[in-house]
Amino acid sequence: MIRTGISTFARRSYSTVKPVISAAKIRLNRLSEETGSNIYAKAEFMNPGGSVKDRAALFVVQDAESKGLIKAGGTVVEGTAGNTGIGLAHVCRAKGYKCVIYMPNTQSQEKIDLLRMLGAEVYPVPAVAFDNPQNYNHQAARHAEALDNAVWTNQFDNTANRQAHIETTGPEIWQQLEGQVDGFTCSTGTGGTLAGIARFLKEKSNGKTKIFLADPPGSVLYSYIKSGGTLIERGGSSITEGIGQGRVTENLKPDIELIDDALQIPDADSLHMIYRLLDEEGIYVGASSALNVVAAVEMAKKLGPGKNIVTILCDGAYRYQSRLFSKKWIESKGLTDAIPEHLKKYTTL
Ligand code: PMP
Repeated sequence: MIRTGISTFARRSYSTVKPVISAAKIRLNRLSEETGSNIYAKAEFMNPGGSVKDRAALFVVQDAESKGLIKAGGTVVEGTAGNTGIGLAHVCRAKGYKCVIYMPNTQSQEKIDLLRMLGAEVYPVPAVAFDNPQNYNHQAARHAEALDNAVWTNQFDNTANRQAHIETTGPEIWQQLEGQVDGFTCSTGTGGTLAGIARFLKEKSNGKTKIFLADPPGSVLYSYIKSGGTLIERGGSSITEGIGQGRVTENLKPDIELIDDALQIPDADSLHMIYRLLDEEGIYVGASSALNVVAAVEMAKKLGPGKNIVTILCDGAYRYQSRLFSKKWIESKGLTDAIPEHLKKYTTL
C-alpha cells in the first residue's frame, strides 16, 4: 500500500487557511496482480469530513461568499444524500454559519446522526423524484428562500462543485501518478467528481486518458451514454447511497462528451467488493467506493494489461455499518449469496 501526500484543510480555521486538499493514493495490490494493471484508488475517506464531498462543500460555500449570497451568521441549506451535508456542516462550524440539511429518508441513520453531531438541522423527507416539488432539493431551496441571509448551495447544478475537482482532485491524481493516468472511472451523484476530474485529465493528457462512467442499477446515465444521449426512464434501486442519477445535471453536462464509455455494476458485485477490500487490503469503505473499484477492474480488463487505472474511495463504511455488515439487512436485499462463505465472518446479526 502506498500512501502519499496526506494533508488536509482541517488543521486551522477554514476562514484563514487556503485549502490544501490531498487525499492519499492507494495501490490495490491484489486487484492489480489479477488484472496485470495498476489499480489505484484515491482515499477520499481520509478528508476531514470523511468523504469526497468535502471538496464540493468547501467550494460551494466559498462561491456563495464570493458572490455575496451569504454573510456572517448566515445559513447554508442543502439537499444531500448525506456526505455533502457532512462536509457543509464541517465548513459551517468553522465559518460560523448555521447548516440546514434535507435528505431522502432512505439514507443511513449513521449519516443523520453524524450531521446532528456536527450541529446541522436535519430534515429526512420522503424519497420522491426530482420532478416532484416535495423532492429534498426543492424543499431545501424553499427553506433558504424563506430565510434572510441564507443560501441554497444547490450542489447538483452549481458548477462550483465540479470546479472543486478541476482545481484539486484532478491535479492531485495527475501529480500522484506523475502524469501516467491511462484510465479513470467513478460513479456519479451530482456528477461533480467525474466531470471535474475528466475535464482536468483529458486536458492534461491531450485526450489520452480514458474516462468511464460507473453506474449503479436504477440510474439512467449508463443507458444515456451507451445510447449516445437518450434519457430512458428506468425503475430499480440500489444498495449504494449517494450515487445514481435520473437526469444530466449542470455539473455533468459540460463534460458528458468527455466520457468514453459506461459500465453498469450490479449490487452483488459492489457488496462482494466491500468485503474483498476489507479482507485483502484492510480497506473499510462504503458501497459507492466498492462499485468504483469493480468498475476500475472492468476498465483494466477492457483497456488491456500494463495500464494505470484510477478510481475514488468515496467514503468509509462506518457510515453504513448497520446496513452493509448486517446479515439481516443483506438478506432483506436478497444479496446473501453475494458474499462468499469465507467472507461471511465480517457480518453481524
Ligand atoms: N459516493 C458517495 C458515498 C456520495 O455520497 C457521493 C455524493 N452524493 C458520490 C459518491 C458521488 O459524488 P458526486 O456528487 O461528485 O458525483
